[in-house]
Parts: sequence; C-alpha cells; structure tokens
Amino acid sequence: MTIALFDLTGRTALITGSSRGIGLALARGLAGAGARVVLNGRDGAGVERAAAELRHAGLDAHTHACDVTDAVAVDAMIDTVERDVAPLDIVVVNAGITRRAPLHELDDDAWRLVLDTNLTSAFFVARSAARRMIPRGRGKLITTCSLMSTQVRPGGGVYATTKGGLKMLTQAMCADWARFGIQANGIAPGYFLTDLTRPLAADPTFDEWVKARTPTGRWGSVDELVGAAIFLASDASSYVNGHVLAVDGGTLATL
Ligand code: NAP
Repeated sequence: MTIALFDLTGRTALITGSSRGIGLALARGLAGAGARVVLNGRDGAGVERAAAELRHAGLDAHTHACDVTDAVAVDAMIDTVERDVAPLDIVVVNAGITRRAPLHELDDDAWRLVLDTNLTSAFFVARSAARRMIPRGRGKLITTCSLMSTQVRPGGGVYATTKGGLKMLTQAMCADWARFGIQANGIAPGYFLTDLTRPLAADPTFDEWVKARTPTGRWGSVDELVGAAIFLASDASSYVNGHVLAVDGGTLATL
C-alpha cells in the first residue's frame, strides 16, 4: 500500500530543462519510480545524451528539444509528445537560468531573458499542458521554485523576481485548475550543486556562507530533490494543491 502510493508505473512525465542538473535528476527519479519520461532542453544533442544515459540504466526515456520561451514551440512540444509518446500525467516546469547583477547594473536584455525563461515560459508550458489535462479531469504540475521565491540576496534581484512570481503562478494554477482535477505544486530547492550554481560554489566566500547559513551545513545534492518530486507526482499527494515544498536543509526555517 505504502509503495503503491508512490508508484508512477504507467504515468508519463515531461520535465522541461532536463538535459542536466536538477531536471535530469528529477527525470531519472520519476523514471525510477516507474514513469515514462520526456526530456527537454534547447540543445538537442545534450537532451539526447541525457536520454541515452537513462535508457542505458533501463529507464523509459524520450526527448523533445525546444526553447520553452517560444509559445508556439511549447504547444508543438505538448502536441507531439501527447501524440507520439502518451498523454501527459505529470509536467515538471523546471527550465531556468540566472543573471547575477545588482538591479542598477542589470540591462534590459538580461531582465527580459530571465523573466521569459523562468516565468513566462512556465505559464506557456503549464497552460499548454492544462488545456489537454482539463478535459481528462486529472494532471500533476510541478514547478521548480526556489529559496528565492521568498528571500533574496544582493545581486539576485531579477532571479528572485521570477521565482517569487513562479510561486504565485503555481498558486494561481491551483486557483483556476484544481476544480478540473489538476494539482499544481512547487518544489523550492535551497543551494544545490549544478552548472547554475558552479560559479557560486567556486567562490570560497560564498561556499562558506552557504555552509554556515544552511542548518544542515552543506550544499544539497540533486538526488535529494527526487523524493519531493515523486511525492508531488504520485497519488501520495492527492490532496496537496498550491503548495511549495522547501527542500533546503532547513534554510528557510531559520535566521
Ligand atoms: P542547470 O544545470 O543550468 O540546467 C538548466 C536546464 O534548463 C538545462 O537542461 C538547460 O538546457 C535548460 N534550459 C535553460 N533554458 C531553457 C529554455 N529556454 N528552454 C528549454 N530548456 C532550457 O540549472 P539547475 O540548477 O539544474 O536549475 C534547474 C531549475 O532549478 C531552474 O529553474 C533553477 O532556477 C532551479 N533552482 C536551482 C537551484 C540550484 O541550487 N541549482 C536552486 C533553486 C532553484 P539548455 O541549456 O540546453 O537549454
């Protein structure tokens, strides 16, 4: 019974931004729990390499490369995946980037790029998926939020603006779509080692700050996000909606 609650056998999941980092770990984890997964990223070769790695491990992995900031490409991706792979039960809205600069030094292009990639694309992906999930009366949407959905460090202004918006977008999805059987929840990772955070981890001052600020005393490993994703993707979370689950070693809980 306990294991069945978390079983994703027969479910199909699309994970945006899953050629590496957190998205790839979540794809591997959902596939390990039984799901058929579809990997995405802009770089087709990177997406194919990641899928090959999962298939090599005996997992059921498919691919669809596209830029999620392009609404037409997003609709085409959801259509193609639903036609060629299977109707989507789970969509993890994960693709994201950052640009670090104090707000007074940030240029227009950087502001727009981060807004488009982290927030507007999440709307495009979730809207496209929901339009197909609503008639079926079920679906799980999971957004990758952040500690920065509620807190911000100097130089993280545009990123935190998008992640704060993404948290509210997740709640808005719940407000509009829960009545159609859709669940929209977020995961808020703390500091995890990936390409995105590599420049921060390489800075000894920042590295020390993360370790001191995190009650658990270390950076997170991407595999430590898998349990939260399986929970939110599975029947185990059937009455959880509009929630953002922090996986942060205790950082948000403490000063
Ligand atoms: P990452 O290692 O840099 O991976 C980012 C992924 O997103 C890649 O697969 C990348 O592939 C894809 N991507 C970027 N722009 C895209 C676009 N326009 N269209 C489609 N795919 C795109 O970063 P990560 O650390 O795993 O971050 C993943 C998510 O977690 C992000 O939303 C990030 O904000 C969030 N997050 C990360 C941390 C952390 O500590 N690492 C903490 C909190 C939240 P391509 O480059 O090929 O497109």
